Amino acid sequence: MTETLQSRRVPLAHPARQLELLDAVPMNGSGDFDAALARAGWPALTPAALEIFQINLGKLCNMTCRHCHVDAGPDRTDAMMSRETIDACLRALDQTPAHTVDLTGGAPEIHPHFRYVVEQAVARGRHVIDRCNLSVLLLQRNAGLVEWLGERGVEIVASLPHYRKRNTDAQRGDGAFEKSIEALRLLNAAGYGKGDPRRRLSLMMNPAGAFLAPSQGSIEKEWHVALERDFGVTFDRLLALNNMPISRFLEWLVESGNLEGYMARLSAGFNAGAVAGLMCRNTISISWDGRLFDCDFNQMLDLDALPESPMRVHEFDFARWQGRRVVTRRHCFGCTAGAGSSCGGATT
Ligand code: SF4
Ligand code: SF4
Repeated sequence: MTETLQSRRVPLAHPARQLELLDAVPMNGSGDFDAALARAGWPALTPAALEIFQINLGKLCNMTCRHCHVDAGPDRTDAMMSRETIDACLRALDQTPAHTVDLTGGAPEIHPHFRYVVEQAVARGRHVIDRCNLSVLLLQRNAGLVEWLGERGVEIVASLPHYRKRNTDAQRGDGAFEKSIEALRLLNAAGYGKGDPRRRLSLMMNPAGAFLAPSQGSIEKEWHVALERDFGVTFDRLLALNNMPISRFLEWLVESGNLEGYMARLSAGFNAGAVAGLMCRNTISISWDGRLFDCDFNQMLDLDALPESPMRVHEFDFARWQGRRVVTRRHCFGCTAGAGSSCGGATT
């Protein structure tokens, strides 16, 4: 069973140490992400129209997956968004045209104010996404939650590393796959994953090792067939995500001797066509303590947006937000490799 970096008090629990480690990887002159962007015609990474308002409710999670980029786990009660910060998020949301509120964590469903945020976002006419680890839906405290979400048209984006038990349990722990299937059956029974746009069920997969995510299009059919044939489970679409070289996946890369090779693979896979669709261009990412970031990955690395004078959500200024330049470092190669990678899957 994996434990959080924080509970083990290891140096990699500190984002500054993760950034130092990435910067120290020998990359033969190919490790400068900004130079790669410039060669691709992007002298600066600037925002597009804001579409996604992503609220990270905290790092508390019922699981402790090996690849977690959040260092989430059952011990992370130290990082939970307060009701007062949630209300500041809602006031900021009112300033923006974002069509989607994306709730993430940790496991957002175990946050005490989860249903409140959903209700408030729905009341504002925004589409809501719940980033769900599936097993959380089986907790006693969440009885009836699936139907409640379905009644409000909430989209479920459920992480499932693989449709094979072995691959999923290797990342999420023994028994995780069986619980995931049980939760998928619950979702199907509530009308999710059957083509109804108000009960959309997306699955998000990520590779088990130090390689890029396969193209979504090429594996989606295989996933549909395997899950329906073997478990009678259906879903609407598959999203493929590269593992980011940060937090617990970074620790695994170091321990398995894969860090240098993985960074070389990400850099060599740079795809200029993936830049326009990078999620940092159309997203605002808010941390449990109300700080603002270009994306969830920068959030986990403590790379505040507007670094010269960071703004908290409590004093949100939309015009200033849209005028910023995105903060980039080497981990960004994880988003531009292959078909591109984001919380919405491939970017090309
Ligand atoms: S990967 Fe997701 S489910 Fe796993 S520990 Fe992290 S936040 Fe929890
Ligand atoms: S890590 Fe964040 S800032 Fe970097 S390219 Fe990806 S989405 Fe953009």
